[in-house]
Amino acid sequence: MKVLIVGGVAGGMSAATRLRRLKEDAEIIVFEQGPHVSYANCGLPYHIGEVIPEEQDLLLQTPKSLHDRFKLDVRVNNRVESIDLANKAVTVSNLETGESYTESYDKLILSTGAKPRMVPIPGLERAHVLRDVQDAVKIKALVDQKQIKSAAIIGAGFIGVELAENLQHRGIETTIVEFRENILPQFDPEMIEPMQQVLVEHGIKLALSSETEEVLENTLRLKDGRVIPADLVVAAIGVVADNKLAVDAGLTIGSAGGILVNDQMQTSNEHVYAVGDAAEKTSFITGQNQMIWLANLANRHGRLVADVIAGENVQARPSIGTGIIGAYGMAAALTGITEGLAKRMNIPHQIIHLHPSNHAGYYPGVERVSLKVLFDPETGKILGAQGIGRDGVDKRMDVIATAIYAGLTIDDLMNLELSYAPAFGSAKDAINQTGYVGNNIRTGKTENIQWHELEDAQAQGAVVVDVRTDGEHQSGSIPNTKSIPVDVLRDRVEELRGKDVIVTCAVGQRGHTAVQLLRGHGVKARNLDGGYSTWRTGMNARDRVKN
Ligand SMILES: Cc1cc2nc3c(=O)[nH]c(=O)nc-3n(C[C@H](O)[C@H](O)[C@H](O)COP(=O)(O)OP(=O)(O)OC[C@H]3O[C@@H](n4cnc5c(N)ncnc54)[C@H](O)[C@@H]3O)c2cc1C
Repeated sequence: MKVLIVGGVAGGMSAATRLRRLKEDAEIIVFEQGPHVSYANCGLPYHIGEVIPEEQDLLLQTPKSLHDRFKLDVRVNNRVESIDLANKAVTVSNLETGESYTESYDKLILSTGAKPRMVPIPGLERAHVLRDVQDAVKIKALVDQKQIKSAAIIGAGFIGVELAENLQHRGIETTIVEFRENILPQFDPEMIEPMQQVLVEHGIKLALSSETEEVLENTLRLKDGRVIPADLVVAAIGVVADNKLAVDAGLTIGSAGGILVNDQMQTSNEHVYAVGDAAEKTSFITGQNQMIWLANLANRHGRLVADVIAGENVQARPSIGTGIIGAYGMAAALTGITEGLAKRMNIPHQIIHLHPSNHAGYYPGVERVSLKVLFDPETGKILGAQGIGRDGVDKRMDVIATAIYAGLTIDDLMNLELSYAPAFGSAKDAINQTGYVGNNIRTGKTENIQWHELEDAQAQGAVVVDVRTDGEHQSGSIPNTKSIPVDVLRDRVEELRGKDVIVTCAVGQRGHTAVQLLRGHGVKARNLDGGYSTWRTGMNARDRVKN
């Protein structure tokens, strides 16, 4: 069997090495248009920041090492130009010699990845992109040679934010220009606000809700007239599937813009498969086709396609989409869908916000882990989660991603037995607490209201009661709230009788106690979800857009 693979990085190389392990006699040729295979795309921003100082450390394999261990014929600097589906052959250009040749196949795997999205902004041709090792080397050389003092990054997705941290770390005055209202628009605004604050505290400038009018010689002009210093401009506006080969060959492209595949990664042609960033995924949550640009899925589907070609009857599970980003010691992670997406798609959802600790409060180094979880109000099935904090975010997000995969409900999180010693977690872990809060809502013991619904509720006559201590109240509170600390609430219930009461505390915990107390006295009350903390970060996110 002769198998050709186009693209020699995450998906392509996973497919190649797995296939070799399964089929010693297969002829496997990998074509890569660049000079490197198996490079660490995810490490590129950190090479520029000198966190990974050596270019060599980004190169995980070479054509020789892959030949020696896996008997792979890896052809770098060889670009596949076209696919002849009828004759099962590809045309290849050797970029070193200029020679063009054809290669036949029994099976063809496309793992051509995603390329930076470019938009028609005058002068954008001056912008750099960050897709491969050469791109990173070019940007790093400009920084090393002190040719640039300032940088503007257009786009605040994962790559834009990681690059900003690394450029700023190298002493470059860095501005991120983002069209949407917050950075990392994959997150809901109140969840990503602490990351925005950290970036700003470290000197990165954020131009949110801003559009670039024109890229000039050493600056960038925004539509609102502002001029941003920009010796270096990087277009990090997002990516699009690199699907030209597939389009030209007449393979079906799906509604999300990627190569359409079935659950065995097979395209509309039975002998051609596609994996990774170029291929569409089916969402585990919505059932719809979507693009998910993550290394985990490229690797997983690369492995799976090898199994399929080797004759195994395996199918890909729909994709959840779990990602994480770090900057200046803070981590933000997400899995499944967000509130924003749930609203846009009219997916019924219930939301909870929590701010538990990473580990036991009495053990040194305690940090807050802020979590937001969405679940189906009918079934309790978890739909998505976001987390932000300095420590312990990754493990909570990974547990929730696993829970989503297993089809667990929010209530099931109460019962998970998770490892605990004071330095690592709590006897009642953040995940268990999430289950408790969700279960209280599902069983009707409490009702919550979201930070962005509060203003309307107040306008309609709701009384907001701050049940924190007087001192906490005085140090910052929601406007037009009545201060009744929870410890004296029992004595003051009559003040609230007959009113639509919303209680708020620091994080929602004392608020829950207050709701139960008021209900016990026949007063209808709701809890402000996530308390003052969530409300404050939500409002800060709003204010940041205005400033
Ligand atoms: C800067 C950066 C940081 C990232 N960080 C993370 C992260 O932290 N976490 C995460 O999950 N994901 C991250 N990603 C995304 C992750 O790298 C991708 O999801 C993953 O690499 C996709 O694998 P792939 O095989 O589909 O494509 P790629 O790994 O991009 O490989 C595609 C290869 O195909 C080659 N190719 C394309 N067309 C042809 C052709 N016609 N002929 C020959 N070769 C061709 C390309 O040159 C390219 O080398 C990051 C990506 C970048 C660029």
